Amino acid sequence: MGTVTEYFGSMVFDDRVMKATLTAEVYASLKKTIDEGTELDIGVANAVATAMKDWAVSKGATHFTHWFQPLTGITAEKHDSFISPSPDGGVIMEFSGKELIKGEPDASSFPNGGLRATFEARGYTAWDPTSYAFIKGKTLCIPTAFCSYGGHALDKKTPLLRSMEALSKQAIRILRLFGNDAAKCVRSSVGPEQEYFLITKEMYDLRPDLRFTGRTLFGAKPPKGQEMDDHYFGVIKPRVEAYMEELNKELWKLGILAKTEHNEVAPAQHELAPIYTTTNIATDHNQLTMEIMQKVAARHGLVCLLHEKPFAGVNGSGKHNNWSIATDAGQNLLSPGETPYENAQFLLFLCAVIKAVDDYQDLLRIAVATAGNDHRLGANEAPPAVVSIFLGDELNAVLEAIETGTPYQGAEKTQMKLGVDVLPKFNRDTTDRNRTSPFAFTGNKFEFRMLGSSNSIACANIMLNSAVAESLKIYADRLEGAEDFETALHAMIRKTIKDHKHIIFNGNGYDDGWIKEATEKRGLLNYRTTPDCMPHLLDEKNVRMLTSHGVYSEAELQSRCEIMLQNYCKTVVIEANTMVAMAKTQIAPAVEAYTAEVAKAASVKKALDSSLACSYETGLVRRLSALTDRIAVKAEELEDALLFLDRAEDIVVESEMIRDTVLTKMGELRIACDEAETLTAKQYWPYPSYADLLFGVQ
Ligand code: ADP
Ligand code: MG
Repeated sequence: MGTVTEYFGSMVFDDRVMKATLTAEVYASLKKTIDEGTELDIGVANAVATAMKDWAVSKGATHFTHWFQPLTGITAEKHDSFISPSPDGGVIMEFSGKELIKGEPDASSFPNGGLRATFEARGYTAWDPTSYAFIKGKTLCIPTAFCSYGGHALDKKTPLLRSMEALSKQAIRILRLFGNDAAKCVRSSVGPEQEYFLITKEMYDLRPDLRFTGRTLFGAKPPKGQEMDDHYFGVIKPRVEAYMEELNKELWKLGILAKTEHNEVAPAQHELAPIYTTTNIATDHNQLTMEIMQKVAARHGLVCLLHEKPFAGVNGSGKHNNWSIATDAGQNLLSPGETPYENAQFLLFLCAVIKAVDDYQDLLRIAVATAGNDHRLGANEAPPAVVSIFLGDELNAVLEAIETGTPYQGAEKTQMKLGVDVLPKFNRDTTDRNRTSPFAFTGNKFEFRMLGSSNSIACANIMLNSAVAESLKIYADRLEGAEDFETALHAMIRKTIKDHKHIIFNGNGYDDGWIKEATEKRGLLNYRTTPDCMPHLLDEKNVRMLTSHGVYSEAELQSRCEIMLQNYCKTVVIEANTMVAMAKTQIAPAVEAYTAEVAKAASVKKALDSSLACSYETGLVRRLSALTDRIAVKAEELEDALLFLDRAEDIVVESEMIRDTVLTKMGELRIACDEAETLTAKQYWPYPSYADLLFGVQ
């Protein structure tokens, strides 16, 4: 296969291939579309389509697909072959500009939350030329947006692109005020760190809970978990190493910059991080990464679990969204500069983020809300459900000095009262000593740590980009009309710090005391679960902000709220049904069989010698019988709770019933079953234990 530099991006129709296969004129025109979003002329589209097809066919591709990201959170594709009959009975391989630009999948079964009536069930897909086409298997995949005929976005890519545009527009206004006339656009970039578990396929197949829900619904604590901290950054086992090697290769061929890999805290848990790139592409790449992770695992007799909480009692998996904004010339706007003037600009962007995160805490929480992530947030392994910002000592001191008008005691003792020219030069604080913060400044980027491992990163970045665009808009409106720019700037930075400092918290986010302080003293939001937060998507302030920047229409927001709540309900209902089935058809019968075995042993002993007490056997039989009774009762109560869901008048009420009753009953059933597992002989237990699952891969 050659060296990495030779095969990197070999399956991508990237700039190198475009340059090599397109005429100078077509290339220039396509490049303009990619960089500036200008419309593509059909002649150019035809030329690009032909070049793409020839290139793909030369790599063995037979099909093409419009690859899109519906609201299921995963990707979708419907393959069409390139073949077209020729008059002589044979076929030729064809692909037109029209087919490249627009597709019409019969996509009526995707969730649309009321955005499409069945009579106009067809959606259409539209090429996103800013993300390169690539080959997966035998198929040329063309990244596309997915919309209804009425023009409503039915996917995650469209609002993401809109949010990037909104952010760019407002950031450019600010840059102009600082005298930057050269920047054409501003882009947000993301490096998502992806956590996952690897277990063996043999064990996975024996667990209906993993197969149907992606997580274990039962399982007694193993004798050893993560308490020794011996897995984190530990030596990677040979089988896992072989997996990672092939995974990297596959990702590199797709032009995905897989960079870092290591073992994570929980046994069987690992992480992969790519080098950061433009948010839109990072999102496509992360979706692909999750898919390839699972595919490559299958080739190694393994299963890659992307669920946020596959195992109780050990850490779950998240996804850290490292986010920054930079100009097209590559200037990172979240990087403190060399001069006070640059630092004033930096502080303004920093303040814009602080204000955005505070004003839209709810949207950030909503962006990561799923049934799976609810198990993780606030469970002492991930940030709490309360959003706060960590800035580090140095920046904190700078902000405090600005707010109070006192001298900054940092690297240079400068009075920071007036205009831009006296804002200090300060050292970049790259030490990220706080791993417990949901939203941490890490030197030249923010790390949003609340995302679940299976989340599409689109949602979080849509909200982040939009909220920051809103802060910047407010700033630009004010500064553009200011009589004296420097005074107005200083006043605004100071006001932001005053108004929003309650969101800044540099202490331990896992501390219970923090939640109390955050909610009672600081008035920060604490939406513990998906049903708690999701309806707030439609709060007036949120709808106003998101629609005013053209990121979502009101109807699109309503549909998202509906779909996310439906998704929550369906997920938990499937889990509950799986539990009931497992408890009734496998666990209870197993415990029953073992009880009978023990009872038989006791009666055999008694028959031999009636004076034997058999207290071990009788005691065990009593405990096991009591447990089988409890399992039966709890399974029935859970079934009843599920029946009650029919009475819910709408999806919000249904989700609340699930949160309050179904999940509680699931917890009770689990306790009874897990206790039974600890008392039942291993050969009777129908499932691999936690120890088997977590320590099974060598
Ligand atoms: P850690 O585990 O210490 O957070 P990693 O190296 O695992 O660090 O991950 C850091 C991630 O942040 C990588 O994906 C990296 O590419 C990304 N990153 C680095 N600089 C930036 C930046 N300016 N903007 C966005 N992401 C960045
Ligand atoms: Mg990190």
